[in-house]
Amino acid sequence: MNIHRASDMGFCFGVRRAVDMMKEAAANGTRVTTLGQVVHNPQVVAELQKTGITVKEDRSAEGVDTETVAITAHGVGETVVRDIEDRGLQVIDTTCQFVSRSQRAARNLAERGFTVIIFGDPTHPEVKGVLGWCRGRGIVIKNESLEDLPDYLPAKIGVISQTTHTPERFAAFVSNLMRARIDQITEIRVVNVLCNATTSQQAATRDLTEDVDLMIVVGGHNSANTRHLAELSRANGIETYHVETAEELEPQWFEGHEDIGVTAGASTPDFSIDAVVARIEEIDQLASATV
Ligand code: SF4
Repeated sequence: MNIHRASDMGFCFGVRRAVDMMKEAAANGTRVTTLGQVVHNPQVVAELQKTGITVKEDRSAEGVDTETVAITAHGVGETVVRDIEDRGLQVIDTTCQFVSRSQRAARNLAERGFTVIIFGDPTHPEVKGVLGWCRGRGIVIKNESLEDLPDYLPAKIGVISQTTHTPERFAAFVSNLMRARIDQITEIRVVNVLCNATTSQQAATRDLTEDVDLMIVVGGHNSANTRHLAELSRANGIETYHVETAEELEPQWFEGHEDIGVTAGASTPDFSIDAVVARIEEIDQLASATV
């Protein structure tokens, strides 16, 4: 088998920066509680926990027993920021600059009287955080098919997206919204807050689908951008498996396939990618030896 690696995959600069900041704090002996998982990758979280970093899954500052809290790359809402300040806690803010841009866009739109529609997963921490900057004027819509759109919309609408959505899905969302509700909307402002790092990884995965007949996507099962890479690969007609670790690879997946693509989400560390590639090589050698 030939193994082809995507030209762009793995840790984006936002995640790398967040992990580096956490490692630096741990190296300095700072006891830190992170408000949620630093990145959506259980292996990276486990590595950080070994250095004494605590994760508080509910992403609130209430009950934190360390002097320092860390805001993850996904960011938090405005009330959480104020709560941290009120409690006098030290902050390591690793919010990614793309997420900060989305939060600023949400706040600016809300302050100008727009109701902010966020196209994203309502359970995702980034989306919850951005919603917290909409000054109570935010709505989250999960799908471009608009099933969860309320019957009535205010006349002034601002539209932004979860940073990791594909440009194609965001464009489809905006176009469907316009078609469905142009009779209710007098003014619409669309702010493109999509993340360059993610779109570059998506383009690299799309290019890779030209050269392979099987795709392995590596990354946390809870990582939205990793799941999007798998969806994109499948949409291009390639048999695709999403794995978190090398141990999940099944030798029978590779039977009859020659060109294997490997790609990974923005929260996937190099060690996970390398372990998957090594396991595919091992599966290939075992298959050759039994022929
Ligand atoms: S995927 Fe994009 S938005 Fe998310 S942390 Fe990385 S650079 Fe930032």
